[in-house]
Amino acid sequence: MGCLHPIPVGPTTICRMTDRPSDDGEGIDPTWRAGTLSVHAGQAPDATTGGVAPAIHPASTFAQDAVGRPRDGWEYARTDNPTRNRLERAIAALEGAEHGLAFASGAAVTDVVARLALPGEQVVISDDVYGGTFRLFEHVLRETGVRAEYLDLCGTGEAPLERLRTAMSADTRLVWIETPSNPWLKLIDLAAVSAVVGDHIGARGERPIVVVDNTFASPMAQRPLELGADISFHSATKYLGGHSDVVNGVLATARDDLAERLRFMQNSTGAVPGPFDCFLVLRGLRTLALRMERHAANAQRVAAMLAQREDVEIVRYPGLVSGRHAHPDAAIGQRQMRLSGGMLSFAPAAHDGRDGADRARAFVEGTRIFTLAESLGGVESLVEIPAAMTHGSVAGSSLEVPASLVRLSVGIEDADDLVADVEQALDRA
Ligand code: PLP
Repeated sequence: MGCLHPIPVGPTTICRMTDRPSDDGEGIDPTWRAGTLSVHAGQAPDATTGGVAPAIHPASTFAQDAVGRPRDGWEYARTDNPTRNRLERAIAALEGAEHGLAFASGAAVTDVVARLALPGEQVVISDDVYGGTFRLFEHVLRETGVRAEYLDLCGTGEAPLERLRTAMSADTRLVWIETPSNPWLKLIDLAAVSAVVGDHIGARGERPIVVVDNTFASPMAQRPLELGADISFHSATKYLGGHSDVVNGVLATARDDLAERLRFMQNSTGAVPGPFDCFLVLRGLRTLALRMERHAANAQRVAAMLAQREDVEIVRYPGLVSGRHAHPDAAIGQRQMRLSGGMLSFAPAAHDGRDGADRARAFVEGTRIFTLAESLGGVESLVEIPAAMTHGSVAGSSLEVPASLVRLSVGIEDADDLVADVEQALDRA
């Protein structure tokens, strides 16, 4: 029997249908490897019809058998709906978690997770984050009394850990990490940071909650919960959806207390995704493993080519392990990432009387396969200048990005064509 009263009854309680008949039968073995889980998690044949693709349930409300007796617990689609429920189970399985939650966007996830910190509490954030995350903490939450502090947590050894110990206070509620980071591809040692946080008593006499934005890596490359994080989240707009045709966000946690609170907030704040969007992400997930292998292989090829050019000043890619442009923390990547990902950043050097920023602009306007656009993680290759585009909101802050930095989202096209496109655009820049 499912719970008969799936109604929020308090600040953190919302009854869940843990034993309701599943729409897709279950049948997932959590020990399956990533490639198998990406095809099958949340995607089992429809329990009624046997349909092998998930059904899209558009209903906003569900008929009840009697007052207070919703059928199998389905009651109102903001609270839960069968298509979203499949996506939530899929992300939980992919992240090795007990619980998954889906939202209208990555920014909506960021907002709900950030609200775990109350006025007067502190959030420690790694110092190279998505511009929209910075904007939320600085221009929405700071005036409510939530204090964000930005810290360089990248690298091995004691220095970043000591900086973290020094920055955390009795008010610290969240430690917020992006690795690889956006746009510098910095790498943070998740196990080491989680261990330091575990030794600290922060706000409410509890250890701070470790939150990881796993968007750049995807669960195919990195599973933060296995390294000690409490919450792993994604802009599913990116690799999880994978086709640049949906805006969506998801999170996963193994902690029952956090899942209960976050689900209550999901229902209360209402930034939930529609069933059509959830279907698109579910469809994207089925090829996630395959796509991520190709993204990473192609990015490695492009990075290796860039690293050999004299007219390139900086190349940042976690998979560059040797040479002039070896990633300074490649060892962390090799330890905690299964793939190096599809994102890389580089800065052209001054050349032929043109400075790096001018060449960067000419480059992004000169590619033919890489499309000049914000966002990342789709099958098609994209190029952008973070300072002028995705990271405009950090201008003038300590997180400001140089105008010469170019960010590439390397797609799944033929690697030879991508390398040739980058070469021709640089030659002309
Ligand atoms: N996190 C990262 C790393 C991102 O790149 C983005 C968007 O670019 C977000 C979060 C926000 O996600 P969304 O655009 O789906 O709201």
